[in-house]
Amino acid sequence: MIEVKNLTKRYGSHCAVNNISFQVEEGQILGFLGPNGAGKSTTMNILTGYLSATDGTVTINGHDILEEPNEAKANIGYLPELPPLYMDMTVREYLDFMYDLKKCALPRKKHIAEICKVIKIEDVYNRLIKNLSKGYKQRVGMAQALIGNPPVLILDEPTVGLDPNQIIEIRSLIKALGKHHTVILSSHILSEIEAVCDRIVVINDGKIVADDTTENLTARFSEDRRLQVVVAGPAKETAELIAAIPGVEKVTLQNSKENGVATFAVDIAEGADIRRDLFVRLAQKEWPLLYSKPLAMSLEDIFISLTMGQNGGF
Ligand code: ADP
Ligand code: MG
Repeated sequence: MIEVKNLTKRYGSHCAVNNISFQVEEGQILGFLGPNGAGKSTTMNILTGYLSATDGTVTINGHDILEEPNEAKANIGYLPELPPLYMDMTVREYLDFMYDLKKCALPRKKHIAEICKVIKIEDVYNRLIKNLSKGYKQRVGMAQALIGNPPVLILDEPTVGLDPNQIIEIRSLIKALGKHHTVILSSHILSEIEAVCDRIVVINDGKIVADDTTENLTARFSEDRRLQVVVAGPAKETAELIAAIPGVEKVTLQNSKENGVATFAVDIAEGADIRRDLFVRLAQKEWPLLYSKPLAMSLEDIFISLTMGQNGGF
């Protein structure tokens, strides 16, 4: 559906996007995740034909964005970081205008009415855009992207500046749109991507540092690498005992407030399994193991670990 090959973008001597490649299959919701300045908007602007690449190719539904720009662009609905709204138009006038601009061939009234219903902007249809709240403005931006019913939607940080309720609404809207569209959505917020996307491409400093399903990406980093352990024993000595078990990388005391009970986070070397040793050694000391469970790394941890590993931080 979307194929990005060896894409590079330089602004003067600064390389904003550095040789990235990825594909998006039909019907996928892909999250483009990265800190500010990572190159997300630059990539999206190239994908949508707003910016030319220094090197590399983008094809949308088989059409090269440079060689067949009209065919390629007809497949795309784009919500840029700053939605291109005309403040002195009403929502109705603006959507009519965008309909003409896109040379849309679908029945005008019916098509626009359907979009307004899906996006839930019917109640502000005759209001001036400048008088709408930020959340509604963002919705109008989304509505504009949907005109012509393009199979691909590219949404650049669609929830920036919205309040928590509006974020939840826009998220569920994107999920619903994902049922009938291929969606690429960018964000610098992990929980957002995790909640909405099937797949995540993590980008940092213009380079892709991970590309996997949301599930795999989480699983890859949570395979028994960290345990939470609760022991009825003296905190300091118990920590030392656990630290001495082969395969233990680090022991962190999380809590020892409760009478004689201490809680630890135990980081474990890849491939090691400390559970039997842990049980036996604690039993020998008669410090009962009350509880132990894997502590899954959050996507936040994964993100930090991925980007730190590559570039020594951001
Ligand atoms: P993101 O959307 O992930 O925050 P951008 O794609 O906007 O990142 O920017 C990537 C890098 O390119 C940043 O370092 C930014 O300062 C730089 N950059 C973006 N646009 C321009 C431009 N028009 N001229 C020069 N540098 C730019
Ligand atoms: Mg951006």
